[in-house]
Amino acid sequence: MAIVASCRDGARDDRRGRSTVYKTTIRLADGRELIYYDTAADQARDAVDKRQLPPANSASQLRYEPFGDTWVIYASHRQDRIYMPSAQNCPLCASTAEHLTEIPAADYEVAVFQNRFPALSAPPPEAVGTPPGTLLAERPAAGRSEVVVYTADHDSSFAELTPERVELLLDALIDRTEVLSALPGVDQVFCFENRGAEIGVTQPHPHGQIYAYPFVTPRTSKALDSARAYYRRTGRNLYDDMLAAEREDGSRVVTQTERWTAFVPHAARWPYEVHLYPHRRVPDLASLDSVERKELAEVELDIFGRFARLFDAPAPYIAGWHQAPVRDGREIFALHLELFTSRRTSDKLKYLAGSESGMDAFANDVMPEAAAARLRELAR
Ligand SMILES: [Zn+2]
Repeated sequence: MAIVASCRDGARDDRRGRSTVYKTTIRLADGRELIYYDTAADQARDAVDKRQLPPANSASQLRYEPFGDTWVIYASHRQDRIYMPSAQNCPLCASTAEHLTEIPAADYEVAVFQNRFPALSAPPPEAVGTPPGTLLAERPAAGRSEVVVYTADHDSSFAELTPERVELLLDALIDRTEVLSALPGVDQVFCFENRGAEIGVTQPHPHGQIYAYPFVTPRTSKALDSARAYYRRTGRNLYDDMLAAEREDGSRVVTQTERWTAFVPHAARWPYEVHLYPHRRVPDLASLDSVERKELAEVELDIFGRFARLFDAPAPYIAGWHQAPVRDGREIFALHLELFTSRRTSDKLKYLAGSESGMDAFANDVMPEAAAARLRELAR
C-alpha cells in the first residue's frame, strides 16, 4: 500500500502569542497519521513512506471494573512490539535510503504519529458493547494512542533538549490535546513519558506518548472527588490550598520561579517524586499564557536535569501532565506535571510489591524532605 496525501496546514499563529509553528500532516503506508511540528517554514516534509505495511491492528476492548468503578484496557496485539532496538533498527530515527522508519523525512524537529500498536484507537465499525447495566460490561476502546518524538537524535534525552525545542514540544502537546479532545468519545488526554529500560521502556529513542481515553482515569476521578469534598467542607480549592501550603512550608520545595513551583509532595509515594504547578490555576496546557510557557521550558529542563544527575546513571522516570478531563471538573482541577523515579539508590529499585500492587497502599523509605534536600543540591 502506498502513501496517499501530504498536506501543509500552514502556520499556526496563535491567539495567546505563541511563536509560529508549522504543522504538516501526512499518512503512513498503513493509513496512520503522522504530523511534523517545525519552527522553520522551509522544511521539506513531503517524503513518502515507502514501506509495505499490513493494516494497523486496532481492536482494543474496555471492560468495566465495578469495585474500582473504572475501565481496564485490553490490547492483546501489543504483544508483538519490538523490544529495545539499536540505532540501526530504530523505528523513531529519521529514514535513510537503507533504513525506512516510522518517520519518512530525512530529518525532523518534533514528529507525532499514531501508535502502530495502540492501546486505544478508533474501534472497527462493527464493534459493539454490552447493554447498559450489565455487570460484565465491555465496550470497544474508542480513543487514540500517539507517539511524540522529541528529536531526531537517537542518543539524546528530554533533559538534553534546548529550551526552544521544549517550547516546540509543548506546542505539539497543546495542539494534540486540542485535536484529540475534540474526537468523539474522548474524555481525557494524558501526555506522558516513560524513560529507562528498568520501567519497561521498549524504545530508547527520546519520545513520549499521548493517550486519549474514552473515560476519566481513576487517578483524576478520585482527585476530583476529593477536591469537590474539600470545597463543600471549606469553600476553597484543594489544589490552590495545597500549593500554598507547600510554598509556605518550603521544606520540600525543589525550585521555584516567578510563575512555577516544583516540590516533593508532603506524602510522596515514590523515592524521588516532584510535582510542578503553575502559580495560576489553569485546567490544561492550552490555558497557559506565553510567559508561563517560556518559564515552564526552563523549569522543566532544570528538574529533569536534576533527575539525570541523581545517581551514577540518569534515573529512569515516569513524567506525566495531569490535565482536566475534556468535559468534567475543569473549574476545579489544576494542571500539573508529576515526575517520579522508582530508583531509590544507584543500585536499588523500588518495586510495586504486595502493599502497593495489592492494596494501593504505598510504603516509601525515602522521606520527602530528604528527597527534596538531595534534589536541591543538584542545582546547576
Ligand atoms: Zn532512534
